Amino acid sequence: MRNDTSIRVLPPDVAAQIAAGEVVERPASVVKELVENSIDAGATDVRVDVEKGGRQSIRITDDGRGIPAAEVEIAFQRHSTSKLARAEDLDHIVTLGFRGEALASIAAVSRVTLVTRAEGEEIGTLMRLESGAVVDQRPIGRPPGTAITVQDLFYNVPARRKFLRTEATERRHIDAWVTRYAIAYPHLRLLLSHDGRETFRTPGNDDLREVLIAAYGMEVGANLVEILEDPGSGSPIRVRGFASPPSLHRANRGGITLFLNGRWIQDSRLTYAVIQAYHTLLPSGRYPVAVVMIAMPPDQVDVNVHPAKAEVRFSDGDAVFRAVQRAVRNSVTGQAPIAPTAFLRPAASGGRPWEGRSPVWAARASDAGESPLGQQPLLPQHAPAAIPALRVIGQVGAAFVVAEGPEGLYLIDQHAAHERVLYERMMAEREQGLPSQGLLTPLTVDLSPEAAGLLEAHLDSLHRLGFVLEPFGGSTVLVRALPAVLTRARPAEVLPDVVEALEEGRSMVDAEVEQAVMRRVCKRAAVKAGQVLTREEMAGLIQALEACASPRTCPHGRPTMIHISVDQLAREFGRE
Ligand code: ADP
Ligand code: MG
Repeated sequence: MRNDTSIRVLPPDVAAQIAAGEVVERPASVVKELVENSIDAGATDVRVDVEKGGRQSIRITDDGRGIPAAEVEIAFQRHSTSKLARAEDLDHIVTLGFRGEALASIAAVSRVTLVTRAEGEEIGTLMRLESGAVVDQRPIGRPPGTAITVQDLFYNVPARRKFLRTEATERRHIDAWVTRYAIAYPHLRLLLSHDGRETFRTPGNDDLREVLIAAYGMEVGANLVEILEDPGSGSPIRVRGFASPPSLHRANRGGITLFLNGRWIQDSRLTYAVIQAYHTLLPSGRYPVAVVMIAMPPDQVDVNVHPAKAEVRFSDGDAVFRAVQRAVRNSVTGQAPIAPTAFLRPAASGGRPWEGRSPVWAARASDAGESPLGQQPLLPQHAPAAIPALRVIGQVGAAFVVAEGPEGLYLIDQHAAHERVLYERMMAEREQGLPSQGLLTPLTVDLSPEAAGLLEAHLDSLHRLGFVLEPFGGSTVLVRALPAVLTRARPAEVLPDVVEALEEGRSMVDAEVEQAVMRRVCKRAAVKAGQVLTREEMAGLIQALEACASPRTCPHGRPTMIHISVDQLAREFGRE
């Protein structure tokens, strides 16, 4: 007997539509899949023409290999691909496509027109499909290459069509994919038009910097710092790309873009590796902009996790994490320019940060000299980013040190600079346990029950940082010793600071909590604005800052110094 709930095999067109849904979610998925096919076909010129956010039509035209006349039909069948022959091939995929699903899926949910001519064939082929069925096929003339037009997307899947967002939203998704491929393949001459108007174009000269300027605009694109490969690492995981200097940041992590072997990927852990690389360099709650390109042997990564292929699995995820973090950190600490002075920067000049970098600096950034920073598990060792040797001129407002260097004038925030010096010193000494200074008479401090509980939960790690504390009943804590740097501080002021850092660190791992506490300690211990310094004290501070691995920002990410070059001074005085 048959009723409504009996099991039956779906009709092929329904099955095809369901399968298509996994690959084709929205117009941008069509753009992504077809541009990938063009790249796989060896194209150097790719044009994307979009009408009405892709609802009306999307056309991708390329100068690639083309599809032989005898293969145009099979290309549109499910699981038909020229890129993979055996199951073993899945272990070393070097093309963007390999599942043989895109053309079949797209054709199942739209009206497709293919015009193609294969290399070496005299004449091309035109083929039209509706809901996946061929409705027209004939020879046609065209130069070698392929043009695929996709019209009326989801015309036969009303539920899907209804879920399409506004034209502007669909456009944004398309723009995002085109931008990603432009960045990943700077040799590609890519052109994008919406409703007949060109909106984006890359020169195709293999210069990633130019693509970044086209994609992000001059202000961001020109200021990104190059992530240089570390030739000495000997690791099969290679990392290149561009990352923002600490002076450039965003409110969310959307500016972090990752590519793996030429494929755009989403990976929250690697995104975190990039964020972690900026540890203490950015104000809290701010995120870098970065384009990170990872290249590694294809057999150490599985890209076949999901039809959209944006998710990957690594055989050694930790190694990739470390490689990304180290590469980004090195480039940012090694090359980032000192915060330029906005008030002196000529408004419209394309002043590039790498111009005017001192030779000393450039040399230091590229040599492999290592400066152990103590045993921070998340912060690898890196080459020091020197600031040039500075000569102290004096102090302004009892808050800023004025100094002169080979490149002009430097204004140094004494408090921020001292915080940085103390922080790095503490990080370096942390492994042996930080020196403690016992109080002559132990003191009790009354706190809220929550605060006391929080301190109690962290007694051990606080001990490593130099705090000797004992629960004293109720919400009272007995202080026997403080970190030596805090000799002059009052326990009643220090403990609430520590509690605040612990509260902030609730969701952090232990090492990060310790760092948060250390930053508080440094803030408390550092010289304050308003404190008049002797010339010796200023020279000592500057010297200590010069020895820092990240001298240009305080541990909270604010700049420690402002640099005004001799050129800038000359310009301001109208001497140019
Ligand atoms: P996949 O890319 O996974 O192989 P597709 O369904 O996207 O699967 O494409 C099927 C086949 O059609 C490809 O393997 C390729 O041989 C051919 N093809 C698709 N697009 C193009 C193109 N623009 N130029 C040349 N060949 C193409
Ligand atoms: Mg494909």
